[in-house]
Amino acid sequence: MNIKAYVAEDEQVQLKDLQLKDVGPDELLVRIVGSGLCHTDLGVLHQDTPTPTPIVLGHEGAGIVEQTGSAVTDFEEGDHVVVSFNYCGKCENCLNGVPSACENFFAANFGVSMEESDSKIADGEEKVARLFGQSSLATHCISNVRNTVKIEDKDVDLALLGPLACGIQTGAGTVLNKLKPGIGDAIVIFGCGSVGLSAVMGAKLANCKTIIAADVHENRLEMAKEFGATHVINSKEEDPVESVKSITNGGAHFAIEASGVSPVVLQAIRSVRPLGTIALVGVAGNLDFHIHDELIPTNKTMVGVVEGQAIPKLFIPELISQYKAGKFPFDKLIKKYDMDELDKAIEDMESGETLKPVIEFS
Ligand code: ZN
Repeated sequence: MNIKAYVAEDEQVQLKDLQLKDVGPDELLVRIVGSGLCHTDLGVLHQDTPTPTPIVLGHEGAGIVEQTGSAVTDFEEGDHVVVSFNYCGKCENCLNGVPSACENFFAANFGVSMEESDSKIADGEEKVARLFGQSSLATHCISNVRNTVKIEDKDVDLALLGPLACGIQTGAGTVLNKLKPGIGDAIVIFGCGSVGLSAVMGAKLANCKTIIAADVHENRLEMAKEFGATHVINSKEEDPVESVKSITNGGAHFAIEASGVSPVVLQAIRSVRPLGTIALVGVAGNLDFHIHDELIPTNKTMVGVVEGQAIPKLFIPELISQYKAGKFPFDKLIKKYDMDELDKAIEDMESGETLKPVIEFS
């Protein structure tokens, strides 16, 4: 079938008429209603994250099932769905219930080669790669039964739900699935973009006693307060490590690094008390630090977390139910853009004016 899709090649992205192939036995054809835009899409656009190209961007899709493959039994035409990250379902970590640590994650989501991207998209004779087993910045995408989440509640605005598939799930899930703080615990979140603010919301849901948000932008700190931060730190005006230690009487139990700025990782390490845990979710680069002095005598744990260690089919419906109960107001992060406004959405995301753009398709 013919679709319109945002295809990236040579660091340029444009809306083009492309062709989608037939659905395979375990696949679904999804008409996209809204697709979130994430920094990972820009990483692929600029090839900081190498993928085959050309490639259709978008990995936070929400839409309506239009067709199901011959072996699909748990979805039907008309179902509302969110399409999340892809995983193989066969490796040790997938079988152990941690699909976000799938041993084939990179190939399944970014495609090491055009073949591994399992392309379902073509531009005439030319193959086009697929991102995260979807490529949702398009009028339609093909997903599979593993990475597609059915949304039973059709009352919620479907266009809002795409970002739950990656960015928002990453922030909230790092708190709720990985760190699992207790109610008396103190947590500090560095970086209040959409992932960090989702972590603040997650910490509020977890009933953390002390929730500290650190950023260099006052407007983001204001939002953090709205989402449940008990304290905020403007790292441009005060030393965040000293402030966290003073607020928590010696250090937080948990820190999340969501800014992606390498030196902030060290601030996160120094902000937690002995036995504390530092979760890294921001895409930072090189950092030089003394492993013994920073981690060993204080028994600190540092861990990388992908996709909030979520099982999307369980976690995304739960986030929606908390949203409906007024306890997870993630919609405040989102601004909607029309189908032809991707350039504007990218500009607004890069300038920080919009935390989480959603492109609506019609
Ligand atoms: Zn796997």
